[in-house]
Amino acid sequence: MRILIVGAGIGGLTAALALLRDGHAVEVYEQAPQLAELGAGVQISANGARVLFCLGLEPMIRAAWCEPAGKEIRLWNTGETWKLFDLGAESVARYGAPYFMIHRADLHGVLIDAVRALKADAIRLDARCTGFEDDGERVTLHLANGTRIEGDAVVGADGVHSRIRNILAGEDRAEFTGCMAWRGLVPAAKLPAHMRRPVGVNWVGPGGHVVNYFLRGGAIFNFVGIVERDWRIESWTEKGSREDCAADFAGWHEDIHAIIRNIDQPYKWALLGRAPLPRFSRGRATLIGDAAHPTLPMLAQGANMAIEDGLVLARCIAAYSGVETAFAHYDAARVERTAKLVRGANEAAKRFHNPALADAAGARAYVDTEWSEARTKQRYDWIFTYDATRVAV
Ligand SMILES: Cc1cc2nc3c(=O)[nH]c(=O)nc-3n(C[C@H](O)[C@H](O)[C@H](O)COP(=O)(O)OP(=O)(O)OC[C@H]3O[C@@H](n4cnc5c(N)ncnc54)[C@H](O)[C@@H]3O)c2cc1C
Repeated sequence: MRILIVGAGIGGLTAALALLRDGHAVEVYEQAPQLAELGAGVQISANGARVLFCLGLEPMIRAAWCEPAGKEIRLWNTGETWKLFDLGAESVARYGAPYFMIHRADLHGVLIDAVRALKADAIRLDARCTGFEDDGERVTLHLANGTRIEGDAVVGADGVHSRIRNILAGEDRAEFTGCMAWRGLVPAAKLPAHMRRPVGVNWVGPGGHVVNYFLRGGAIFNFVGIVERDWRIESWTEKGSREDCAADFAGWHEDIHAIIRNIDQPYKWALLGRAPLPRFSRGRATLIGDAAHPTLPMLAQGANMAIEDGLVLARCIAAYSGVETAFAHYDAARVERTAKLVRGANEAAKRFHNPALADAAGARAYVDTEWSEARTKQRYDWIFTYDATRVAV
């Protein structure tokens, strides 16, 4: 089949790779004139790692990743610390695959190289899609430069502002969720020695939280600080100042301020969401990743879900003749899981930012209950154990 993918993000490229490996003629249309994935780190849990490894990417990923020994919860003001879960060998033993942190640019680069190794000209740049038509037999993709491309199917992997989604499911818009994210990288050598530990940390506090972990074998440190405040610009390149970032975390632990003081350049990012869809496909078109189910990053699963989508979509296309039948099976496999994940991330936001975390005594009781081993397992096991390479389609 000739499959036209719109968007060369993590989701679009994973789908492209899986479909190329199955022998399809795949083209990826990307609006950006250059493939320069920006941003900072991304956490890939066992469910995502399993897919990337199954696509043959393990050696390249291992060369670029950082594998933490575990994750911790820390309290915003006192720094009190609780174990969230063990990772490393424990993740492999429990879930069959590792949990790792990687710079988005590195993961993106690995996917681009793998796609191009199978088809050198698969990724078409400076190719903004403005719409498509589906006559029941073929699809025609429209590009902003006037080009029309015919294919058998369209996959919208065009992110939270998806044009394909608007055509397929109506003109709803991505809405501001009430949270904005500060993001930045710190050279590890600039951190105080006691912070150079191989663990990922979720700092929780009233009205905000911080996630930090190492990247590139421990050479750089990733900071994501999310606060409930107004900021509507969603862009990887919108710069902020260290002073403004520090002001948003006034009263937080000195470790947080040690990070912020050493960030090379802080960036600001509005977190947007869209109402969940009852289905992702119509006719010969479908959606994957943030185009289908944008989610708050509180469970660190947006990219993982996009990766799972890509492989499950390819498996459905391999298993069924007829695009519409394949897409119906893709919807059946993916709509419920991703909606549950979006709801789970919304719930996690309430937990991470809970007013009960304001004073230390109340916070201790709250953390002991909400992040007990049993509750943590219940919250994460269904996510990490999912096997997109085998799940029934
Ligand atoms: C602060 C923060 C932290 C996060 N942390 C994690 C994490 O730890 N783990 C995790 O799994 N996820 C995380 N995520 C989520 C993750 O980044 C996204 O879910 C993921 O990148 C979505 O991938 P995608 O391919 O669906 O979309 P995108 O990465 O948005 O890619 C869409 C692509 O489509 C292109 N495009 C858009 N419109 C058009 C058009 N009309 N024509 C052609 N091309 C077009 C864009 O240029 C872009 O290249 C985080 C997100 C945020 C904001």
